[in-house]
Amino acid sequence: MKKLLSISLSLMMILSLFACGNKTTSSNTNANTNVNANTQAKKLIMCTNAEFPPYEYKDGGDFKGIDIEVAKLIGQKLGQEVEVLDIAFDSLIPTVMSGKADFAMAGMTVTEDRKENVDFSHTYQTAVQAVALPANSTIATIDDLNGKKIGVQQGTTGDIYCSGDYGNENIERYPKILDGFQAMKAGKIDACVVDDQVAKTIVATEPSLYKLLDTAYAEEEYAIAVKKGNTELLDKINKVIDELKASGELKTIVDKYIK
Ligand code: GLN
Repeated sequence: MKKLLSISLSLMMILSLFACGNKTTSSNTNANTNVNANTQAKKLIMCTNAEFPPYEYKDGGDFKGIDIEVAKLIGQKLGQEVEVLDIAFDSLIPTVMSGKADFAMAGMTVTEDRKENVDFSHTYQTAVQAVALPANSTIATIDDLNGKKIGVQQGTTGDIYCSGDYGNENIERYPKILDGFQAMKAGKIDACVVDDQVAKTIVATEPSLYKLLDTAYAEEEYAIAVKKGNTELLDKINKVIDELKASGELKTIVDKYIK
């Protein structure tokens, strides 16, 4: 009964809309053009590298993960639709700098070098670099990595730290860290260094093949990157991040993905 009532109410609303439309055909055309222009202007482009579960990954044709959900919530709070642009990790900062994306959100660590090219929001997550090993590896400490072949994702902090600490010649760079794990499986490299939650997620898919070293390698914090000087967007994003932290919404999203 209630359903019928609401259907007839909706019908009445549609009919009255038509009635209005008829009276104002010409001005409506203008209004529609404006609405379209506004909607386009309102879209926020987020660039990411969807090879980084649980922060961003592809599931069928959909983008999923903590960053995707937080970005959508930011869009919702700002009244803007968020479109995801999936590109290589080391293209994220240039893409934000060129204005082809409004912001980069990709489990991206705040570093002094990156700060020279983009502005970072308030941080929303902490992470550490973890060392993943083949299950039968004899590597027991960070120092044992000396002289070993280490796999990293190109352009990430894992890449930067390991290149500095263990020598460029010992680093194998991959476009996605899953390729590093495949190389480790095939015995081509000895370890992979990647953000802890990502390492845990991948190790959990094949626990008989991989293990994690107990020691954490480096501590870091994630933030959203915007074009340098885009304080208008940065202020809005910061406000939403603060709100999401205070309300517990951020924690709810993180807890959904990280048990
Ligand atoms: N946190 C690391 C960095 O910012 C890795 C990020 C990633 O691979 N998506 O470099």
